[in-house]
Amino acid sequence: MREELKHLLDNNRRWAAATNAREPGFFTRLAQQQSPRYMWIGCADSRVPANEITGLDPGEVFVHRNVANVVVHSDLNALSTIQFAVEHLKVEHIIVVGHYGCAGVRAAMRGLRVGLADNWLRHVHDVRLRHRKRIDHLPEPEQENILCEMNVIEQVGNVALSTVVQDAWARGQKVSVHGWVYGLSDGLLKDLQVTMDRPETVVQVFGAAIKRYPRQAGGEANGGTGNGAGDPSGDDVDDDVSGETTF
Ligand SMILES: [Zn+2]
Repeated sequence: MREELKHLLDNNRRWAAATNAREPGFFTRLAQQQSPRYMWIGCADSRVPANEITGLDPGEVFVHRNVANVVVHSDLNALSTIQFAVEHLKVEHIIVVGHYGCAGVRAAMRGLRVGLADNWLRHVHDVRLRHRKRIDHLPEPEQENILCEMNVIEQVGNVALSTVVQDAWARGQKVSVHGWVYGLSDGLLKDLQVTMDRPETVVQVFGAAIKRYPRQAGGEANGGTGNGAGDPSGDDVDDDVSGETTF
């Protein structure tokens, strides 16, 4: 077993030596303190490593990853990480990064059973149900891609509405929450244009982002007022954006 891991330790020795040669004192300086400007909340997928994708060195991005990049208000792990990033490290940007081809999103989309993770992926399944009128009419491969994007948008809203970010904004701290999606097949990040940087923008930015995904032809005209009052299809949480915005 140890032999199987030897090349990792060898790689590490070479990397540390090369890094120190390129930038003498790099590790000594980094050991004193970290002061990243960015926090990355991404999927645990091994193909989506935060530092490599963004060209950042150790010390430059604070990372939290889980299956399908989900932020849940009762997840003390994620919330504690966000709190440390915002209150102690004073990061200026929190970026939720999903990726196309996400196995977690695919499982949620297709209703596949994968085990314990089904309970976690239920959050992504809920995103799909909430926006099903904007998803279900699309061809199958596109449905998964759109759910990857919508899941990011939802999680950006969850981060923005967390007590940590709300409190930071209330005391005047500058911190923005962004949503990106990564393409496994081309290595490129796409900005989903859902940046939230103060409390009053959250609902508006969320609504505008969701409306970029049209319902099946004819459906959009019935919604879009931002007011769910009088909605005749009471059983349809997806019939307008205010229904989708349960903040
Ligand atoms: Zn994934």
